[in-house]
Amino acid sequence: MTGRTTRADRLAHPTTRDAIRAVAENHGACLHPIQLRRINADTGQTDQVLIPCGATLASKCPPCAERAKVLRTAQCSEGWHLDTEPIADPPPPDEVQAMWVEHRAQAQAMRDQAEAAGQGTAELDELIGDLDQEISRSGLRGKADPARSRPRRHRSTRGRQDAPDLPRRKVSPRTVGRTSTARDGKTFRPSMFLTLTCPSYGRVDENGTPVDPASYDYARAARDALHFAALFDRFTQNLRRVLGYDVQYFATIEPQKRLAPHVHIAMRGTLSRTELRQIIAATYHQVWWPSTDVVRFDGDYLPVWYDARGGYVDPATGELLPTWDDALDAIGPDDQPRHVARFGAKFDAQGVLAGTKDSSRCIGYLTKYLTKQLGDCHHPDSDAQREHVERLADALRYEPCSPMCANWLRYGVQPKNPRPGLVPGACKGKAHRYDHLGYAGRRVLVSRKWSGKTLADHRGDRQAWLTEMLGLPAADPARYRWEQVQPEDEDYLPPGRRLLRSVGDRLQWENALAEARRRAQDALSSELSPTGRAA
Ligand SMILES: [Zn+2]
Ligand SMILES: [Zn+2]
Repeated sequence: MTGRTTRADRLAHPTTRDAIRAVAENHGACLHPIQLRRINADTGQTDQVLIPCGATLASKCPPCAERAKVLRTAQCSEGWHLDTEPIADPPPPDEVQAMWVEHRAQAQAMRDQAEAAGQGTAELDELIGDLDQEISRSGLRGKADPARSRPRRHRSTRGRQDAPDLPRRKVSPRTVGRTSTARDGKTFRPSMFLTLTCPSYGRVDENGTPVDPASYDYARAARDALHFAALFDRFTQNLRRVLGYDVQYFATIEPQKRLAPHVHIAMRGTLSRTELRQIIAATYHQVWWPSTDVVRFDGDYLPVWYDARGGYVDPATGELLPTWDDALDAIGPDDQPRHVARFGAKFDAQGVLAGTKDSSRCIGYLTKYLTKQLGDCHHPDSDAQREHVERLADALRYEPCSPMCANWLRYGVQPKNPRPGLVPGACKGKAHRYDHLGYAGRRVLVSRKWSGKTLADHRGDRQAWLTEMLGLPAADPARYRWEQVQPEDEDYLPPGRRLLRSVGDRLQWENALAEARRRAQDALSSELSPTGRAA
């Protein structure tokens, strides 16, 4: 190139930094690697190791988010069509465990007798605490008496969930669905792909925006989104009761175009559409929270934190606001729940067989939006859509998101575990944020016995496969000590250099893997060739 270039010409060239990022993304190298120092405890030798940031959102690090999605895909497909129980029944307690449990039971009996006789229980309570520790030390999971040390409220609203109108079977511990046998003797173990939605809040057009915004029920939409995870939980309980076994699921929560959450469920085993329709109709979640009908504090007139009393007071009267527990206790027997969440009548259900194209297509659906925040799944690109997002955010602003929510102060109730600095309308809870659309729960809900593995186990599987493929010696974790490198340390790598190293490491790794694959392929073809030589 000769001659002068203008500023515009120069700006039209990409920067080196952008190019490195693009190369990193193409090769799946983490954009924000974390620098660790690995110290060999035997030799004292120190290495610099970069580990991926592990982000699950593409807005933070596309390569890491893609890897996280691949891992979820593996987890989803591994559990869906299992034909054997993934977790063996735990063995009966050993002698030591049984002994501690016996001591614990006796101590409880003595304590309860002492209490009934009006005697002190402090010593026995202490003994019980010690025994509980011995029980967990002996390797038993869970607590002997989960309700212990939890202060009991006078009245519980928890028992007030009405029983759903459904046939109930005893739930057997089986997690694997039934098989069906075709005429040719082949057995099938079908599984299902379900999609459940929220009810209608008013008619919407094909862009997901309300036909009549004024009558669209934003308050209800906001509350349903807030309690969607709890509703899904009720659904799985009912599903298990009706089907009579420990149904397992891998579910992901996503927004529809109208910005209401819906849930895709990969379920092990099947049920009929009629059964599903019945369960959906009978499933609801009642929210027994204090009333928010009356706004008591607004604008500049807000409750004030009063340190000496550890709570918020009415600025006009100096009166302490009712605590969370007081407010719950004030819910009378004739009161209605503050909200009842239900699914919409529309659902989608299809049977899916292991290893079919359908199965991988559904897994694609299930993991499609996992690298995006809920609010980023559908980009508003018309005024109507932007206004729709806006109005939903408005409805969520003063809606209490949890018992701890600052918004309770607006309705004259102290949030649970109050602390100074709470301002209604400025709760830090995720549910209120634009990008969460009212749903603050986890995006992927996996039942405990889905694949019998945690996400870390699945990650370990991948690593073990790689180590074997590359012929690397398995590192002994006990030999190394790890330290995070801080910006003020001498060996600190600035972000630009870290990114370069991240790309470099990845390229080397890709070459090594390609080489290992070639060798494996050569070995395979020499085994197959009749002369024993590589063909
Ligand atoms: Zn990353
Ligand atoms: Zn909140």
